[in-house]
Amino acid sequence: MLNNNIKELLKNSKKIALVGHIMPDGDTTGSCLALAYALESLGKDVFLFCQDDIPDNLCFLEGCEKFNNELTPDNKYFDLIFALDCSDPERLGIFKKLLELNEQTINIDHHVSNTEFASLNWVDPNAAATCELIYELIESLNIHIDINIANALYTGISTDTGNFSYSNTTSKTHSIAAQLLTLGVKPEEISNNLYRNNSLERVKLIARVIDTIELYKHGQISTIEITKDMLTKVGADEKESSGMVGYAKDIKGVELALLFKEQEDGQIKVSMRSKNIIDCNKLANIFGGGGHARAAGCTINSSLYDAKIIVLEEAKKLF
Ligand code: AMP
Ligand code: MN
Ligand code: MN
Repeated sequence: MLNNNIKELLKNSKKIALVGHIMPDGDTTGSCLALAYALESLGKDVFLFCQDDIPDNLCFLEGCEKFNNELTPDNKYFDLIFALDCSDPERLGIFKKLLELNEQTINIDHHVSNTEFASLNWVDPNAAATCELIYELIESLNIHIDINIANALYTGISTDTGNFSYSNTTSKTHSIAAQLLTLGVKPEEISNNLYRNNSLERVKLIARVIDTIELYKHGQISTIEITKDMLTKVGADEKESSGMVGYAKDIKGVELALLFKEQEDGQIKVSMRSKNIIDCNKLANIFGGGGHARAAGCTINSSLYDAKIIVLEEAKKLF
């Protein structure tokens, strides 16, 4: 069993790095924090890395401030590296370097597009969230799940399943969540922090963003846009622009929603969501991205206008 191999590697490791993906979400953040607390309880020295800031709505999680966003000369070499919720090395951003500098690397993930880039790979596309796999790992290591671990795991599972509503939600998802509730997680408290704690700037941004929605292919494809200018106009920052593709998806008759977001560096981040049929991972692959069948993404180096034209052209072919 794969967990036994991980156990073996852990036995001989003291200094351990956990890396989350760029533009972190609840799953990568929750996985890193939960595993960090678990490994610390085994007496390991744990270092957390994530290139980009943890979004405000996740900052209620204990330990969020422990993430490092740069590599220092004395913190480059580790006995063991874990990449969590990362489908390929590019998703580690600047911390891709850790994979080159260190020999023992473990990749725990649930993306069907995972490239199995580590020396040990545990990839399960049937898991709704990487946090489900981290729960299994912690259980198999017989580590006590305290409230910090439980809250972090519940957060990752909730955010990757649309609060237990997407098609990736399974009976296993619910049994793990049930266990976490037994261990003290308060679902209302977590949901209030995650979903009902918007800044006024974010709400104003939502209004503008919703106003950009357009329909194509007889209403089966929707597009929605976020520009830097919109952020400036309402005084919102980049971190406050997450999770908006849902507004375009939740329209009657829409099968595929495409969000185009202008990033700080001028590149366009595309988020893809489908309801039943269209394979978003396949569409994202065409542009060097990846993800899952119902949710995927890619980054395109062009204007927002051009990104929209080329992605729409490929998307229409899938119907
Ligand atoms: P997002 O639209 O950023 O919420 O991402 C949806 C899913 O696609 C997540 O599971 C991401 O991990 C994955 N994803 C997003 N962007 C990329 C990318 N550039 N490369 C690979 N996977 C991505
Ligand atoms: Mn993720
Ligand atoms: Mn995930």
